[in-house]
Amino acid sequence: MDRRTFNAGLGAAISTGAMPKTLFAREYNGPNVILVRFGGGVRRLETIDETATYAPYLRHVLADRGVFIPDMTIAQIDGVNTSHAEGTLNLLTGRYLSYRDAGSKLLDDRLEPTEPTLFEYLRDAFDLPSHKALLINGEDRPQEEFFTYGVHDHYGIAYRSEMLSLHRFKLYKFAQILAEGAADEPTLVNAQEQFDALMASDPRAITPDQSPEVTAFWQRWRAHFGDDGLKNPRGDRLLTALATRALRELRPRLMMVNYQDPDYVHWGNASHYTRAIAVIDDGLQRLVETVDADPFYRDNTIFVITPDCGRDENPLMGVPFQHHFNSRAAHETWAVIFGTGIERGRTLDRRIDQSAIAPTIAALMGFKADRAEGDTLSEIIA
Ligand SMILES: [Zn+2]
Repeated sequence: MDRRTFNAGLGAAISTGAMPKTLFAREYNGPNVILVRFGGGVRRLETIDETATYAPYLRHVLADRGVFIPDMTIAQIDGVNTSHAEGTLNLLTGRYLSYRDAGSKLLDDRLEPTEPTLFEYLRDAFDLPSHKALLINGEDRPQEEFFTYGVHDHYGIAYRSEMLSLHRFKLYKFAQILAEGAADEPTLVNAQEQFDALMASDPRAITPDQSPEVTAFWQRWRAHFGDDGLKNPRGDRLLTALATRALRELRPRLMMVNYQDPDYVHWGNASHYTRAIAVIDDGLQRLVETVDADPFYRDNTIFVITPDCGRDENPLMGVPFQHHFNSRAAHETWAVIFGTGIERGRTLDRRIDQSAIAPTIAALMGFKADRAEGDTLSEIIA
C-alpha cells in the first residue's frame, strides 16, 4: 500500500461516514492488524533500552522489521490516570478520558468506553462477523471484558468484538457441565456455584452470548485441555496460547492481545516484573512465528506493539515501580509497528502521542476513527 491508496482509503471511509451503515458495509480486503498491549505498565529501561532490555526479541529483532517509536507519551491532561484500563482505552479509541466508571461495587478499575473502539469502527465499515474482531484478555481482569464496545449512541453492542479469556472459557465450561448433567453430584454443585459467581461478577459483559464460532472454539479448547483447569497455561502464557490458537481457528482481521503480568510488581519484587517482560517477549516471538508460517497472514499482517502505560523510575520512592502518581516515567511509553506496507528499519525520532495509535490503525485498515483526536502517522507507510 502506498501513501496514495492509504489516503484514498481514508477518504472513502470519510465520505460514507454520514450514510446508513448497512448499505455501505463492504467486504474487508485490507491488512490484518494484531495490536499487542505490552501491558501491565512497563518502563522504557527494561523494554526498549538497547542493553538493559528484558525483551531482546522485541528490541533487537522486531524493532528492525518496521518503525520503532522510542518516544511515545501519554499526555499530561487533568484527570488522566496513567493506568491499565485507561491506557488500553486510549489505544482503542484514540482519545483521552473516553470512559466512565461502570459502577461496579465488586471491582475497582472497571471502566467502560464512552467513545467507539476500533472494533466498532471496523465492524461498521466492513461486513465482518464478530469473531473477526477479537480481544484476548487476562484471566483475572474481568473488568476488561467491558472493552469490546462503547456505550455511545451510534455503535455499541451490535458492533462489539468477541472476547477470549479464561473468564469466558469458565463460563462456557460450567454451563456445559451443568447442561450435560453427567458429572457426580459434588461436581455439579461446584459447577453451579462457579457459574453463578462468574455471572454475578460481570452481568453486562456476558450478554449477549458468544457467537457460534467462539462457542466452537471453546468446545475444542475444552476437548484439548480438559475440565480440571490445570493443564492450560496460566497468566500471560495463556494469552499467547489463546491468541495463537485464535489465529489458526478464527482467522481474526483485528486482534488485540492484552498482556498484563508485569503489573504483578505491585505486589511482588522486581524480578516478577522483569520475568513477566521476558514472558511477553517470548509470546511475541510465538505470535510472529505463527503469522510468518501461515499463508493467510504472512504477507498481509501488521503488528502494533505498545504499552498501556509506563512506570515510575525514581529509585528513592518508598514503593518503586508504581504508575499512579503521575510521574514523568509513568507517561513514557513507546511503540513498534511492522508488517505489510510499513517502512522497515526506521526510527521515528520525535515525540508521538499515545492517541495516534487508534487513528493510525484505522487508516491502515481503511476506515476512519472519526471520534479519535490523535494524529494519523502516515509517514510510517513504505
Ligand atoms: Zn498497575
